[in-house]
Amino acid sequence: MKKRSKRILTFYTEQQVCFDNIQTASFSKSPLKPYLLMQRMKKKGLTSAFRFQSNFQPLKKEDFELAHTETYVHNVFNGEGNYRSNSLPWSKNLVHSVGFTNASLYEAKKHALLHPQTVCFAPVSGMHHAQPERGSGFCTFSGQVISAIKLYEEFGVSGAYFDLDGHFGNSIEDSRWFHPAIDLAIPKGCNINPTGTNESYVASFQKGLAHVGELIKAGKLHYVVFAHGADSHEDDDIGGGCDTKHWLLCAQLFSEWVNEISITIGKPLPVTLALFGGYRSDNYEAVLDLHLKSLMTCARIICEHPQRETLVIPKKTYMRSA
Ligand SMILES: [Zn+2]
Repeated sequence: MKKRSKRILTFYTEQQVCFDNIQTASFSKSPLKPYLLMQRMKKKGLTSAFRFQSNFQPLKKEDFELAHTETYVHNVFNGEGNYRSNSLPWSKNLVHSVGFTNASLYEAKKHALLHPQTVCFAPVSGMHHAQPERGSGFCTFSGQVISAIKLYEEFGVSGAYFDLDGHFGNSIEDSRWFHPAIDLAIPKGCNINPTGTNESYVASFQKGLAHVGELIKAGKLHYVVFAHGADSHEDDDIGGGCDTKHWLLCAQLFSEWVNEISITIGKPLPVTLALFGGYRSDNYEAVLDLHLKSLMTCARIICEHPQRETLVIPKKTYMRSA
C-alpha cells in the first residue's frame, strides 16, 4: 500500500479570510479563523506538520447554484434581500472570501481523492447550516453539499461527513430536495453528527465510524471528511458535550479508524479535514488550540508525522458581573 505523505496538505490563501468588521461587529470570529489559525500554528512551531497550497480559484456563481436558488446567490453577492440571513456583517470582503472558503473545501477533497496518500485540510467553517434559499447560523453557502455534488459529477464518487461540530449540520438534509445528485453524492445516513456527552458522545461517534466503514468496504463510499468543530467542547460559549479528553479521543479514534480501513481496502482512504465551529469569548486561542490538537493527532497517527504538541486547553473563565 502507498505510504502516507508525512505532512497535511493545507488549502489556504488569505483570500479566504474576511477581515472587514469581524473582530468588531460579529459574534462569530469564524470568517477570520483561517488566518488566526495559521498565525497560531506558526507561533506554536507546528508548521512542519503541514504543506500549503494557496494557488486555487474561487467557486463561481454557477457552483453556488448547485445548492442554492439563483435569488439567494444574487442576494448574497449584491447585499440585497435576505443577504444577512447568515447573521454575519455583510461586506464585499465577506463575499470574496466565501468564494475561496468553499473552493478550499472542494480543492482539498478533490486532491485527497486524486492523491489519497495525502491527507488534505481545508481550514474553513461557516457552511453546515446554510439552506437552499438562505444562510443560517454564521453559514452563508453549503460548501459541503456543493463540493460533494461537484465531485460526484466529475468522478462519480460518494462521500461521508463526520460532522463533530456541536450543532447539527442541517445543510445536507435540508438540501436533498434541491438537487437530484445529493442522495448519490452524500447518501442518506452518511452525514454523521454524534450526540451525547463524553462517553455517550464517543460511543455515538464510534457507531457512525462503524456504519461508514461498512459502506467503504462495500465500495459504496469513496472518501470521508472529518470536521472537528471545537464547539462540541464543554467550555464553548454555545456548544459543549465533551471535555478535552473525550473531544481529543474522537480525533484519535477517527485516525486509528482511517488506518484500519485503509489496510482493509488495500489503499489509503481519501481523508479531508475541516474546522467548523468554535466560540469562546474568554479565550479564543483555546478554540484555535483545540483545532491544532486535533490536526496534530491526525498528523501523528495517520501521517506518522513525528512532531508532538504540548498545547494546554485552559478551563473557561467566567466574567464576574459587577
Ligand atoms: Zn456549531
